[in-house]
Amino acid sequence: MIPSHTRLLIIGGGIHGTTLAVAYLEQGGQLEDLLIVDANAELLANWKRQTSTIEMTHLRSTRVHHVSSNPHALKQFASRHDYGSHHFKDRFGRPSLAMFNDHCEQTIKELKLATRFIGNEAVQSIERKDTFVVQTTNRRITAETVIVSTGQSNTMHIPDWANLSTCRHVFSTPHVAEQANVTVVGGGITALHYTLARINKGHHVTLVTKRPLEVSQFDADRSFMGPKGLRAFHRLGDDWREKRAFVKRERKPGSSPNDLVLKVKRLILTGQVRHLIGETVRDGDVLYVDGQIVPSEEVVCCTGIRPLEPIHSFLRPLLEQLSLPLTPCGTPVLDDTLAWTDGLYMTGPYADLVLGPFARAIYGGQEAARRIVPRLFEAKQKV
Ligand SMILES: Cc1cc2nc3c(=O)[nH]c(=O)nc-3n(C[C@H](O)[C@H](O)[C@H](O)COP(=O)(O)OP(=O)(O)OC[C@H]3O[C@@H](n4cnc5c(N)ncnc54)[C@H](O)[C@@H]3O)c2cc1C
Repeated sequence: MIPSHTRLLIIGGGIHGTTLAVAYLEQGGQLEDLLIVDANAELLANWKRQTSTIEMTHLRSTRVHHVSSNPHALKQFASRHDYGSHHFKDRFGRPSLAMFNDHCEQTIKELKLATRFIGNEAVQSIERKDTFVVQTTNRRITAETVIVSTGQSNTMHIPDWANLSTCRHVFSTPHVAEQANVTVVGGGITALHYTLARINKGHHVTLVTKRPLEVSQFDADRSFMGPKGLRAFHRLGDDWREKRAFVKRERKPGSSPNDLVLKVKRLILTGQVRHLIGETVRDGDVLYVDGQIVPSEEVVCCTGIRPLEPIHSFLRPLLEQLSLPLTPCGTPVLDDTLAWTDGLYMTGPYADLVLGPFARAIYGGQEAARRIVPRLFEAKQKV
């Protein structure tokens, strides 16, 4: 039976929430002290749905980025289970999605995480009394410590012109019937993978990007995963606007790794994909790019996902109750351990202005674990 009180509650069972739970248990935390609550039915549901929708074969990140706090865990898992070398791509060892997911599943199973998981329950509010009081759609949970790992998928961004019945976001549900002629909008990995997926189904694809296809191996320069690379970022101190501008500038949302760009370019050169470059404009029900009509039987926007601002989320009651500090761009002001207030920690997009351009990536979950988990044990010793 799920208890109504817990020492540690993680809100969000995506890659970040799972990474935090795994780190907590790997470093000596007790399973019975932990609960994870999520709006989805199972752990990692968003990740699996999003990556399978676009039929991603390999991750963009490297072999040391996964849900364990041991950097070699994925490599060791691969050797133990005889995964062939094709499961690690290029010199960065980007893992195959199949192997990465198998490793997640195995870790979740070994640590019995599913027994501490409350699925299908969105958190609706949080307040502070003697402990944190968290209201889900179905129950009230009290927790001494809360980690918020709700990711960036709460809002699907689609452009204003896409207000047509045949336009949808690539991650929207329920799925509509696919047409033989599809327009894919966006220049990042989601759009390029999705283009390949639809070509594999024998569909005609028009790809619309604002700029020519752009190569970047990672979401941002790899140096931002270490203190040296982040020196200029940290020098900005509490200048939140500049820090936000830094993160925005350095993250490369409209770019993809070389192999993916090459594959799509080949399809463009051989005429299998029509590529239109420029801003989309709408006249009545007709879409144009650079003066050319864009097929609109089915338009799939791969135009990004966005987190909810805390003020528009279940965090609002707590934010108001404790007058928690916000930056001018509406994100929480966190300390170096990612605490917003005593016992409340934030990861992912909420930690952008502390961790820098990789806060939202798998690395960001691992870095959050490195900062948060030791604090949980310090807090326990003091009790
Ligand atoms: C197609 C795709 C490919 C990617 N590939 C890579 C890659 O190769 N490498 C990399 O580093 N990053 C990659 N990313 C970025 C990736 O999204 C993140 O690394 C990772 O999935 C983020 O995990 P998360 O836990 O923060 O978010 P999510 O996976 O979105 O998990 C958040 C969870 O919080 C839950 N939640 C939200 N609100 C509530 C609420 N109110 N109550 C209860 N639960 C709630 C959601 O249901 C969800 O399960 C990719 C992203 C996409 C979309």
